[in-house]
Formats: sequence, C-alpha cells, structure tokens
Amino acid sequence: MPTTKIYDIAIIGAGASGLQLLYEIVQADPTNERQILLLDSGDRSTKSWCFWEDEKNECFPFLVEKTWESMTYRTSSGETIKSKIHPLQYKYISSERFFTYFFTEFIPANPHITLVNSWVQKIQEGADLHSVVCKDGSSFYANRVADSRPLKSEDSSLIYQHFSGKFIEFEQPILDESSMTLMDFSLPVSTHEMAVFHYILPFSQTKALIETTVFTKLAYDKEAYERIWQNYIETHYSSQKYNVLANETGTIPMGVTTQKREGQVFNIGTAAGNMKASTGYAFTRMHEDATYRAQNLSQKTPSRFRFYDKMLLKIMQSEMNKIPAVMDRLFSQVQTPKILRFLDDKSSLTDDIKLLSKLDIPLFIKHLFR
Ligand SMILES: Cc1cc2nc3c(=O)[nH]c(=O)nc-3n(C[C@H](O)[C@H](O)[C@H](O)COP(=O)(O)OP(=O)(O)OC[C@H]3O[C@@H](n4cnc5c(N)ncnc54)[C@H](O)[C@@H]3O)c2cc1C
Repeated sequence: MPTTKIYDIAIIGAGASGLQLLYEIVQADPTNERQILLLDSGDRSTKSWCFWEDEKNECFPFLVEKTWESMTYRTSSGETIKSKIHPLQYKYISSERFFTYFFTEFIPANPHITLVNSWVQKIQEGADLHSVVCKDGSSFYANRVADSRPLKSEDSSLIYQHFSGKFIEFEQPILDESSMTLMDFSLPVSTHEMAVFHYILPFSQTKALIETTVFTKLAYDKEAYERIWQNYIETHYSSQKYNVLANETGTIPMGVTTQKREGQVFNIGTAAGNMKASTGYAFTRMHEDATYRAQNLSQKTPSRFRFYDKMLLKIMQSEMNKIPAVMDRLFSQVQTPKILRFLDDKSSLTDDIKLLSKLDIPLFIKHLFR
C-alpha cells in the first residue's frame, strides 16, 4: 500500500470539463472535506465557449460576457432569417475569463484542491485505489479518477469541424449587435468535400468574432480557410476598415464516442462523448454531466438523439454538398427555438417528428438504411 496521500478524486485535465467537474464537486460538498487532485499538462488553448439555455439552467452566469436574444441564419441563396429565441438566450464565455476565474479565484480559495502541472502518461486501475502516473515519474493515488485526455480515433470516415476565425474591430459602427449569426452559408464555397459557413458573434457595433467554419473529412488547411475568410469579409464588408485583435483556430472531431470508460475511473468532456456529434456544442452538456456526477447520479439521453446524430453524420460523410440545402430547409421551415431544443436533445418526440418531416425525407431515408 502506498504511504502517500490518497485523494478522493483525481481530475485529469483542467480544461472545460475538468474545471466544470471540479466546480460542481466543490458545490456538492459544502464541508470541503473531499481532497481533490487536479492534474494538467498546461496545454490549454484559447476558445470562445458559446451555448444557449433558458433562465432555469444557468451555466456559470457570473462568467457570461455577452448574451444575445436573437439569432440569424443566412441561407445559401443569401436570404436572412433573424429570429427571437425566447425563452432561450445565446451566451458567450471566453476561455480566458473562465481560466482566470478558476486559477486566480476558485482554486486558491479552496485549499483542499491540489493543482499539479504535469503530463499524465497512464492510469493504473486497482481494486479500490487507482494510480495516476505522470511523464516526469511522479504518481498519485485516488479513489476515483475523471479523465478528460482526448481519445484517439482510428475512424477514417471521421468528420472534423475546423475553425479559422478572427476577433476584429471595424472603424465604423456597422454591426447589429442584437443578433448573433449561427450559420451563414451565403458564400458559395461549399463543395463535395467540405461544407463551409460563417459564424459571427457581434460583441458591439464595431467588435466581432467572425469565423470560417468547415465540416470536412480533410485535414486543417490554414491557407485555404484564410482565403475563404478574406473572401467573406470582402463580400460582406467590402469598404470597411478593420483591425485584427486576435485569432481563434481549432478543430473538433465530430463522431459518436464508443470507447468511453465508466466506473471509478471514468471519462469526462469530449472523451466521454459530451459533445453533440453533429454540431460540436459541448459546454452545457459537460456542465450537466458534471452536476450529475458531483451528486453521484447518472444521466441518460434518449437514444433517438444519437440516432439522429448518426444519420446527419452519415449524410455529411457521403453527401457533404447537401449540407447547406439541409440546413436552409431546416431554418426556413422550423422556428429557431425549436431547432435549438432539438439540437440540445431536449425536444419531445412529437416535435422531433414535426421537425424531421420538414427535411429532405428521401435523403434521410436513403441514409437510414445504410
Ligand atoms: C476553437 C474551439 C471552439 C469551441 N467552441 C465551442 C463553443 O462555442 N461551444 C461549445 O459548447 N463547445 C465549443 N467547443 C467544443 C468544446 O466545448 C471544447 O473543445 C472544450 O474545450 C472541450 O472540453 P474538454 O474538457 O473535453 O477538453 P479541453 O478543454 O481541451 O481540456 C482538456 C485538458 O486536458 C489537458 N490534457 C490533455 N492531455 C493531458 C495529459 N496527458 N496530461 C495532463 N493533462 C492533459 C489539456 O491541457 C486541457 O487542459 C469548441 C472547441 C474548439 C476547439
């Protein structure tokens, strides 16, 4: 038996899911008796975390930097659909604000949390006690281990969502800051190999994050996405002068996770499949998962939502060029809050049937039987 300290739980990865779980465990145990180990390699990239929710489900409300009550969808033929999304709101938290809060306020205020900066190599599972072994030779013991290290996928048909965005500031107040743009398919650059849309978060009348988003099986192509971004700006803001404040790039694998671990050693975050396979949204899912786990409860999403996801992914895998038309049809025919509930796995079966009936039925039936 080791003589070293035994933690109640070791959390591997101080990213979105690891810190959300840390927070919820502390909230669920006001006595602060649980000894928590948080291990991270320090390899944190910056991200803009956005999500939609109603006022009943407030996910870190004190960290939200901007809220939108309207959402815009622009079709591939350039038609603009702007909708109020009440009772939902679209919210933005920057990873910078999230990490600053955790590392300068929350963790220092909770001395029962031990933060270790180290690269975890493996977890050795025992009967009741598990050891976490790091690359630098150190090891730690814990009764439970939550692991957010990314899983490697061997799936060659995997679709990726690549991002290439910039935070920019226009010289003139030209933006409509009341509405964020979820998807703008109006730039005709989608092909058989990639579906491309633009995502816009207007923080004020002059500042915005404008992001080229690409669904594809292909690897990240920095130069191509940069050209598409420039093309979009020239098309929509041709005479406007702007400064680039910062860049945001990244990739999300879009697939249904099948290898996740459960038990005393369990996966969290993307590694646990807490990312909606067909959209890449994960923040509120990870929060729900963290809340349940902190209270030792288990959560079950109706399997039909995984089925819908798989079907959409199958269409992306073989008919990527149809994606703009599928989305155009969805947003033209269904109210946006209903689409958001559906994408959140929170819609009723009746609403699902109504929504699916508005889509390209032959296309979906074709992929249903593949
Ligand atoms: C650019 C971008 C934008 C996104 N925007 C949104 C959004 O708007 N809304 C949304 O819902 N989702 C979004 N996502 C998806 C998802 O929310 C994020 O990817 C989220 O960060 C995933 O959380 P995670 O905890 O699984 O992984 P991460 O946040 O990446 O955390 C993993 C942590 O593990 C650490 N780590 C990794 N390997 C080791 C190791 N061997 N040892 C120790 N530590 C290790 C890393 O340092 C990191 O801190 C976005 C993703 C990207 C890439």
